[in-house]
Amino acid sequence: MIKLSKSRFLSGIQCPKKLYYNIHRSDLKPHILSQQQTLFAAGNEIGDLARKLFPGGEDASPSSYKDYFTSIKNTKKWIAEGVPTIYEATFSCSGGFSALDIFHLNQNERWAIEVKSSTSVKDYHILDASFQYWVMSQAGFRPDRIFIMHIDNNYIRDGDIDIAKLFKLEEITAMVISNQEWVISKKDEFIGVLNNPDEPNLGIGKQCNSPYTCEYVSHCWSHLPENSVFELYNAKGKDWLLYESGIMSMLDIPDDFILTDRQRIQVNGIKKNLSNIDISKINKFISTFQYPLHFFDFETISTSIPLLNGTAPFDQIPFQYSLHITDEYGNVICHHEFLPQADEFRDIKSIQEDPRVKMVKAMMKHFEIQGSIIAYNAPFEISRIKELSIVFPEYKDFLDSLINRFIDLLIPFRNAWYYLPEMGGSASIKSVLPAIAPEFSYKDLEIGHGGLASEIYLSMIKGTFSGNINATRQNLLDYCERDTEGMVVIYRHLNKIIHS
Ligand code: SF4
Repeated sequence: MIKLSKSRFLSGIQCPKKLYYNIHRSDLKPHILSQQQTLFAAGNEIGDLARKLFPGGEDASPSSYKDYFTSIKNTKKWIAEGVPTIYEATFSCSGGFSALDIFHLNQNERWAIEVKSSTSVKDYHILDASFQYWVMSQAGFRPDRIFIMHIDNNYIRDGDIDIAKLFKLEEITAMVISNQEWVISKKDEFIGVLNNPDEPNLGIGKQCNSPYTCEYVSHCWSHLPENSVFELYNAKGKDWLLYESGIMSMLDIPDDFILTDRQRIQVNGIKKNLSNIDISKINKFISTFQYPLHFFDFETISTSIPLLNGTAPFDQIPFQYSLHITDEYGNVICHHEFLPQADEFRDIKSIQEDPRVKMVKAMMKHFEIQGSIIAYNAPFEISRIKELSIVFPEYKDFLDSLINRFIDLLIPFRNAWYYLPEMGGSASIKSVLPAIAPEFSYKDLEIGHGGLASEIYLSMIKGTFSGNINATRQNLLDYCERDTEGMVVIYRHLNKIIHS
């Protein structure tokens, strides 16, 4: 009989079909994306750090993912010997098994501690821990107290990482105990799914994206047509309402179905191939621009363990920017960029050595004293500048002076003042650009999206990058430059429309 592990239990909670696929349809499993690998690595880093709060323990981690018998045997032995702390303590009972991040004897109390890299206790952490508690109880090692140890996002780094302040220990014993009857009924249901050769007859639903996007979406959602109702802009539940009433394509949305103006423009675009171009609103928008124009874009990195002084877990730290300065017609006057060597993020001994200070100094040189600053989704850039202003008050006057100069180039597209059917249901620059300028592309670039840029640069900072550093730096510069170049292309296009 196939046993239920903690991860299988959680899969079953999300969707019994996911649990079934995990066991019976390994052919459907997508390859692990490099960004997922980065997340796993970050999780391991957090786990290793958390152990330092309970030092000196025995490690029951299996030598291979199949060798849980040794882990179970060692856990039993070490508990019997009174070992105070065991990492990856592994327990097994009839029907289930699970590994606990930290098992700790605290003045004769058995503490079960699960470590999470989130900044709060989530509902699914409690469910996960409830199953854990059930297995431990059945195995004869019922914990006295059970905790989630997660990242405290109030922690601000100041010098070396203060592990005691980085983590927060939250007790969830009462909630876990009250869930035990529910665990028992669910585990029976899931063991039934695991040991049944027939696929559960379940359709797609909100569970496909909650609490995570399921890895089988490309399989289960493959029956949906192009321009499906799930591409409706800012659908807010209308997509499911339509789908559940049997409407899968936006082409079939009845004319009397209530849509927002923005959604109606999109649906008309698909049904009748209609564009929407509101010259007067675009004109009014562009009339607020001050010249020269500064097209500006940051690339950022975000880590659970704060990388630099003055940053909190998961802060977005700018590491690179591109700036195109143009005249009112969008003719490029100059291009500036900034990207420090990745090792400048390590062993910083003074504020002046901080790459963010070097970035601010470069910005002071590169920005003209007047002229609008154009960004796509400007609140993101504005937030980074405000954060820099707080951490480096000596540059506050300069940084604060930039904030009121920002204009968000997303606005005409988010409001569909300019809408082409080719943009689909998204106003992101990656949807707008190909519709406006099909010849403008990121395809020739080695790095084609911001997520990859961050991931690569972070691996350079951590010293785990194994490629050609100089060539990759150039790839990063090329990518960021293409983003601001894309904004210039969009501006020229809008400017041409209002003057034609
Ligand atoms: S995609 Fe949805 S329906 Fe398919 S297995 Fe995942 S959660 Fe279940």
